[in-house]
Amino acid sequence: MGQDVQVERNAIREHMIIDGKPVSQSQGPTIPVYDPATGQVIAHQPEAGAQGVDLAVRAARQALEQGEWGKMLPAQRERLLLRLADLVEANADELARLETLNNGKLLFFSYGLEVAASAQWLRYMAGWATKISGELLSPSIAFPPGINYHAYTRQEPVGVVGAIVPWNFPLLMAVWKIAPAMAAGCTVVLKPAEETPLTAIRLAELALEAGFPAGVINVITGRGESTGAALTAHPGVNKISFTGSTEVGKLIGHQAINDMKRMSLELGGKSPVVIMDDCDVDMAIQGAANAIFFNQGQVCTAGSRLFVQKGIYERVVQGVADLASSMTLGSGFEQSTQIAPLISARHQQRVQNYIDVGRQQGGRMLAGEGARPEQGYFVRPTVFADVAPDARIMREEIFGPVVVATPFDTEAQALALANDTDFGLGASVWSQDLARVQRLTAGIKAGTVWVNTHNMLDPSMPFGGYKQSGLGREHGRAAVEAYLETKSVCMAYPAA
Ligand code: NAD
Repeated sequence: MGQDVQVERNAIREHMIIDGKPVSQSQGPTIPVYDPATGQVIAHQPEAGAQGVDLAVRAARQALEQGEWGKMLPAQRERLLLRLADLVEANADELARLETLNNGKLLFFSYGLEVAASAQWLRYMAGWATKISGELLSPSIAFPPGINYHAYTRQEPVGVVGAIVPWNFPLLMAVWKIAPAMAAGCTVVLKPAEETPLTAIRLAELALEAGFPAGVINVITGRGESTGAALTAHPGVNKISFTGSTEVGKLIGHQAINDMKRMSLELGGKSPVVIMDDCDVDMAIQGAANAIFFNQGQVCTAGSRLFVQKGIYERVVQGVADLASSMTLGSGFEQSTQIAPLISARHQQRVQNYIDVGRQQGGRMLAGEGARPEQGYFVRPTVFADVAPDARIMREEIFGPVVVATPFDTEAQALALANDTDFGLGASVWSQDLARVQRLTAGIKAGTVWVNTHNMLDPSMPFGGYKQSGLGREHGRAAVEAYLETKSVCMAYPAA
């Protein structure tokens, strides 16, 4: 154990990576980084501020326009991404343990979702580098007489990308931005969340080891309102790719529109889990619990609104509550742990406030009371039944292990309840009846609808939000296209 602890401690870097070099420049005081399981400070990060942002954006611009990166063949970019995937796997122990130390999450998920999924996404996107193509067009331009036209489109990298990511899946979110941007031939300045910068910095170092030229992948650290805002506003950035809250997404969107920057916004959610009475009930109970309690509910697609058909409602909500009450809270490093700490003291307080609001607004609390570890930012998995449609805990994203449940009679009611939200990121339908499933999957306004499962993602499946859950799609072909500009080329030549 002692030696294991060294693995992640040795991987802590208290600097940024700009133009291939460690940079410790800081405007103002450094930012403390915490271990959520103990509340102890594990690192101090620089605040890049406007100056650090400028340095990184210039490095990215230089790498794009003057370095070897812009001249590389698609197959060379593919190979670099494949090498990076191999290096991520080769450093799995260090990256997974570092993530659990910094984010608090279960080590099992750090291995499976941060490290293994990052390698999977890098490999999938590597394949796209050699498959980017334009179209041959058939223009009907009739003038002047005697002239024919040959026209086609080119797909060009959008340029320098400013990527801003949240703290819930720190390494994976960084890869979700970097991998398609690299496949498209862009350069990137990535700002991880101030709570969780550590694995992103290691990723940038591994990218250099893989052979990515200096300046292609830069990682800067700092707070959102200072460094994040400076990155968004920097005139040298062509596109902002943001994942985070809807509130900040709108701020970023306004700024991006002012400068006419391209943007992708992956925002919040309040995803419904719709359980019909013909489903496999035991499977649905387990599925509904996983949908909300996975990663302590700190998942943008968390199944935080549970709608159950009347005949099985009590059985399902009690079943989810029993699972919630039986879960073991503890450090993400302990094998017996099922619920790890939340990310920060501030977020713990925020979630706890919602639970208090839930109590006041009259939901029937079936799980959530009980002991918590003395140190660390823990919240017990919590279930509220019979919650009214207009209750705050039904409408607002809590981003913690709190689920609210309501019964319904008919399929039409289920659909109305599922869509009665400002958000539209994910949803799941639990039923064995194909016709019902078809009607509900078509009717639900969300970017991803799962059937008899929840929260399952794959690099091939486009992912993003309807309504206030964002703009654009990540993953699949759509992700690469979001990092490309289309240029039409039109050539005139004499007909004879
Ligand atoms: P957040 O919006 O507070 O922060 C996200 C990132 O934005 C951080 O890096 C932060 O430093 C930065 N930021 C904050 N203010 C900024 C500003 N004014 N200008 C520029 N950058 C700024 O979100 P959070 O609390 O870190 O993450 C939780 C949220 O993220 C939830 O709403 C969740 O649903 C959402 N999320 C969405 C997805 C998705 O794919 N749709 C995935 C994960 C998380």
